[in-house]
Amino acid sequence: MSERDTIISLATIAGESALGIIRISGNLCRQLCEDVFDTPSPTPRKTFLKNYRSFSGKNIDQVLAVFFDHGKSYTGEETLEISFHGNPLIANLILDDLIKRNCRLAVPGEYTKRAYLNGKLDLTQAESVAEIIAANSEIELEIANHQLLGSLSKKLLYVQSSLIHLQAKFEASIDFPEDEIRENNLPEVLGLIKPIKQTISKLIQSSDIKSSLSQGIKVSLIGPPNVGKSSIFNKLLHSNRAIVSIEPGTTRDYLSREIIISGYKIELFDTAGIRDTDRTVEKLGIQNSLDIIRDTSIVLLVFDSSLPYPNDFFAYIKEEIKSQTIIIIENKCDLKRVITSENYPTHSSVIRSSALDENCSKEIINEISKTLTTTYKIDPSKDILVSKRQQKHLSDSMNHLIEVQNLISISIHDEFILQELKMCIQSINSIIGQTDNEDMLDELFKNFCIGK
Ligand code: GDP
Repeated sequence: MSERDTIISLATIAGESALGIIRISGNLCRQLCEDVFDTPSPTPRKTFLKNYRSFSGKNIDQVLAVFFDHGKSYTGEETLEISFHGNPLIANLILDDLIKRNCRLAVPGEYTKRAYLNGKLDLTQAESVAEIIAANSEIELEIANHQLLGSLSKKLLYVQSSLIHLQAKFEASIDFPEDEIRENNLPEVLGLIKPIKQTISKLIQSSDIKSSLSQGIKVSLIGPPNVGKSSIFNKLLHSNRAIVSIEPGTTRDYLSREIIISGYKIELFDTAGIRDTDRTVEKLGIQNSLDIIRDTSIVLLVFDSSLPYPNDFFAYIKEEIKSQTIIIIENKCDLKRVITSENYPTHSSVIRSSALDENCSKEIINEISKTLTTTYKIDPSKDILVSKRQQKHLSDSMNHLIEVQNLISISIHDEFILQELKMCIQSINSIIGQTDNEDMLDELFKNFCIGK
């Protein structure tokens, strides 16, 4: 497989549709315009309507084609895009025909890899292309779009240039030992390291937020049996997914569903009611509920407000609720109120609700939304969130930087400090893609879809 091959693939979903698009990238594109469409000098970026004429001279379909010149396409190579009537048979006939004309099928991510290799995108931008395609919520999409414009690269280039500035200082001190850094410029050097560490540390932390956003922020309905958890779950989903019953202990396992609240992807859990029981199956369900609480960001703690506060309940969950945001829902507010709030666990807000009321989900959703916007204070047009791969390289660079500080403090020879600094810069370069590590590139691009 060569980087110089002309590659082809279906850029749209396989199957019947109004239109399909085949994308071709490589040196054969101009020749294909002549051979297939009788258009030896296509005007770049201008669509032309033509019959697709096969190698054996048959007309396969009337198509629209666009030619992009070398250097002025997504991949940086000559590119041709063909829109045909969305019949999978036509797609296959065209793809087969292109193979006869010396093109080959692209592997996943190959177009974006070529764009990267031809300097059209750096690695962080290439990754954001995959993220745009995979985004499940508006926020993820906005963040990925922002990163496609190079926001992360800009920040990393700033870190890189600060590190190079530092490197130059140590190199100068080796070349001109009379200017020993430690004696003359130590406060200045440490002053330079501090903001670099702060920037790297902020980026490392952002990775957890990014994971939560892409996997879905976990929100769980927790409480004793029969308080109305399943009824509220159904109201939040606008469906009757969970079984609602007058009999306590019916939800013995958890249910989960994805919903979007204020642009955030949420994984909502309905869990088994927590109480003391001898029934083995119910016990297992309760254990699952406790496991879910630990892994949850927002706990919707539901009580039946027509009953006294279940004083023993908190003992079951107290080990599990240490860092989550707790919203208390006093359900069944259509009945006479008996509950008192003095023993409630620490919480962020209390909502009075009746799951019998059609509008009961509104207030709960508002409260979840408020918590999300304060917990995940994200401005998608400004904030940068890094992926796990990027986080790993950032952590490596942070470790090298800490080592630089340590070495400075024990007055070791500048040569050793310089070595650590170079490794630190190398880790930053690996994020942007200023590296020739072929294995790393293969690993990264294989997660893309074919055609991208
Ligand atoms: P869970 O065990 O906590 O999931 O509770 P369910 O949702 O299964 O509800 C238990 C019983 O309480 C069912 O008979 C529901 O119809 C009833 N219920 C749930 N919410 C309310 C409410 O707000 N008011 C009243 N009066 N009954 C409710």
